[in-house]
Order: sequence, then structure tokens, then C-alpha cells
Amino acid sequence: MLSALTAATILMLAPPADDARRGDGPFAQRGYYITFMRMPTYDLADWRRIVDAIANDGGNTLVLWVAGAFRSRKFPITWAYNEEHENVRNDFVRDLVDRAHTRGIRVLLGFTPFGYDGVNQYPLEHPETRAVGKDGRPVGKGGIGCWGYNLCPSRPESQRFLLEYIREMAFDFYPNADGLLIESSDYAICHCPDCGPHFFEKEFAFVKRISDEVWAKKPDATIVVYPHYFSGAEVPGLGVRAARQPFDPRWTLFFTPHSAHLDPALIKRARSSLWWDDSPALRRPQDIKAGALRARSAGVTGYVPSLEAFSFVATVAEEGQEWLKGRRQVPLGFGWLKAGEPPYFELPMRVNRIAYREFSRDPDLAFERYRSILGNEVFGTTATKQAVDDLLEVQATFADGRTWCQPSPLVCPDRVRAMASQGKLTPEKRAEYRAGLERIRQIEARHRNPKSDGEKELHRIAQWVVEQWRDEGKLLAPKAP
Ligand SMILES: [Zn+2]
Repeated sequence: MLSALTAATILMLAPPADDARRGDGPFAQRGYYITFMRMPTYDLADWRRIVDAIANDGGNTLVLWVAGAFRSRKFPITWAYNEEHENVRNDFVRDLVDRAHTRGIRVLLGFTPFGYDGVNQYPLEHPETRAVGKDGRPVGKGGIGCWGYNLCPSRPESQRFLLEYIREMAFDFYPNADGLLIESSDYAICHCPDCGPHFFEKEFAFVKRISDEVWAKKPDATIVVYPHYFSGAEVPGLGVRAARQPFDPRWTLFFTPHSAHLDPALIKRARSSLWWDDSPALRRPQDIKAGALRARSAGVTGYVPSLEAFSFVATVAEEGQEWLKGRRQVPLGFGWLKAGEPPYFELPMRVNRIAYREFSRDPDLAFERYRSILGNEVFGTTATKQAVDDLLEVQATFADGRTWCQPSPLVCPDRVRAMASQGKLTPEKRAEYRAGLERIRQIEARHRNPKSDGEKELHRIAQWVVEQWRDEGKLLAPKAP
């Protein structure tokens, strides 16, 4: 039977040319946020492909988190933990930025002032810069991938270090980049007597100074900052209010669902503003559509969500999970990839990239229409409703329950084993996973004689999932009552 979908896809064979996809729709800034520093295994050739893919997705903006992943001459402690990173071994980000420019993409260098990757290593050698926790004692270690201490911005040495480190990144290493993302920490601040309720004023001193220095050299630079210095509002999760400092309309604002709530009055005053969420990295195409709709209704000028995938070796129990320790992170849960193979070209991620391309250009695009575009691009003229259903099911299998550091349970028996040992593998969960695995088995069986490269890929991935459970079936077996 010929489905209605097949007829529809035949009418819209070729996707629009690159240029036709760009600069249109409700967002002036489109693209992705990528934690480059947590992806040590990819070299310049890989990143050139990734940048090309971003351009093909309609992107003109790449937030590239580089702190901790360049070979600082002044502060080698910032990358000592990340010595295996390809850009630490053989510096290439300047070339990558040049490449991005040839594809019309502006690159913003990401870092966190006084915390997170690279920066949080400094207190290992300079303990006087270590922040103070709510209990009045020096903070413990924290982070993702790069574990260290966040810094107290009231300490002159913290300010000096951060300024010199970021100057080195922005002016000495990558002067061709287009600006900065100054990502205020979402997990910790300093509670010492000098910081306390004034923490964001102290952080702002750095933000203002580095912004002025960057704009002095490059008046058109995009400097993305959090609203925490201007709004006076409660900062989510940190128990302290934002500062009320003067807002320079040259700044671009950054908003997220978890750490920086939308502020309509500030958005109106800024030259531009970006909405971030985790949907392309962690969720389904439906969530990407919802994210684009939310960004548009908020009146921001850009939608730049996460495309984060990790490939570092965990040295601590990330997310409290001992079983991850000593293992290389599996990017997006795609366990078939070799260490140096980027995950963004694999079928489940293509589903989300196509969703981002389409919904960021037109958040109102009907989901059915997206399905037909997806079917056409992956299966060509052999697309059927069933094949698209199966493709979305496989994508969901990798997304459901995945966290930043853990593959989804259904593609990772080790995770399910850990859940069992933690008493979290309830009978309901086992039943849910058995049903999911059965659906994947049916997909594997349905596509054994593929009629397109896309269908061949779909089959290969379904088969890979089934294979993971070959000797592990008893983990999911219903327990005797
Ligand atoms: Zn402090």
C-alpha cells in the first residue's frame, strides 16, 4: 500500500539549497552550543566536518567552549587534566574559526568565570583562590569531566588569573574568533564574607573589564553574558539575587530553562539575546519544536541549543555513578563508534539536526511536514510511514532517560545493572524496557532487506541495540512474585 506520506515526499524531493535555509525565519542567530573541551578525541578534520554540518543545518553561530582545551602558556595547570585533547596536543582552533567563517558561521569562545573546566584547576596550585561554601568552609571539588574548585572573585589573585587566562585565549590564541560566551556558573558561587549577596557584583567586575577590552580591539565582537548582573532577580538554584549594574546594550543576553530565566524587559534592551535548551543533545524532535516555539514567543533574537556530546575518560564518579569511573564517555550513547569518530553524522542525531534546521527556521512547521522532510532525506523515494515511525522510535530509544554522562538504559545494559544494584530497577521499569526492546527487535526484523542507505543504517543500529542484550536478557526478566 502506498501511504499518503510517500506521495507527499515525492513532491518535495530536494531539500532547499544551503543559502536558501539561512538568515530566514524568526531567528537572526541559529546554531549550536558545543562543549568542545569535553570532546578530546576529535581533530581538525573532524571539526571541519562538524562546522560544515552546522552550516548545512542553517547555523550561523557556534558557541565553542574552549577553556580547558587550549595549551595556555601562562597557566599549564588549566589543561594538564586534558592533555589528550587534540587541540591541546596540536592547536587548531584558529584554523577551525577560519573554516567556520568560510561557511558564514561566527564562533564565540565559551568559558565560565571563576568555575568549570580549565578555570577550576587554578586553585589546585593556588588554594587561596578557592571559593567558600554556604557552610563557611572552603568548597569541595565539583564539575563535569574537569573536576576542581570554583574560585572566589573577591580575591585579587582570582581576578588577575581569570583576566590573563581569558586574554590569552581571546587575544593570543584565537584573535580571529567573533566574541565570547561568558557562562555564569549554574552550580556554585562563593559565600565568603566579601562575596555573599555581592557575588554577582564581584563577577561583574571581570565581565565588564574583559568586555571593554574585547570591544576596544573588535567593536563588532559579540559578547554573550547572563542576566545575573542586571536584573536584581533571584538567580535560579543559587540562593542569591542578581546584581543591578548598568546594562550596556552591546551585550548579548543568554537564557536557559535551568539557570537564567527569561527577562522580557532586559531582552528589549539588548542588541541580541539567545535561548539555550538541551533538546537537540538529549531529547526528541518534538522537544526541539517546543524549544523553537518557546524562544520565539520570548522574543529572543536567537535559538542556540546544546549539541553537547562527551568523549572524555571519566576520572571520578560522574553523576554519582561509580560504574562510569575510568571509562571513556560514549558520545550520545552511540556505543558502536570508535574513539575518534564524531557522533553528529549518525542517524539518530541526524533526526534531531534535521528537526533543528526545520523548526528553527519555522517553529510553526507542522510535525507531519517535518516527518515527510525527514523521511525524504533519510529514505528517499522509498520512504514509508512505517519507516519514519521506526526511525523516530530508534531516535527516542537513544534519547529516553539519557543524561549528560549516561547512555539511555535501553542501549546500555551496564547502566541497567547499576540501576539494579542501586535498587532503582523497579518491575515497572523492567517491563517498560522489555517492551522497548521488543519494539526494536521488530524494527530490526522489518528492515532486513533495506531499499536505501538510510534504511540500511536504521537496520544496523536496531541490530546493534538488540545485540547489546544478547547475553543480558535476564537483567530485564520479570522477577518471580
Ligand atoms: Zn568570595
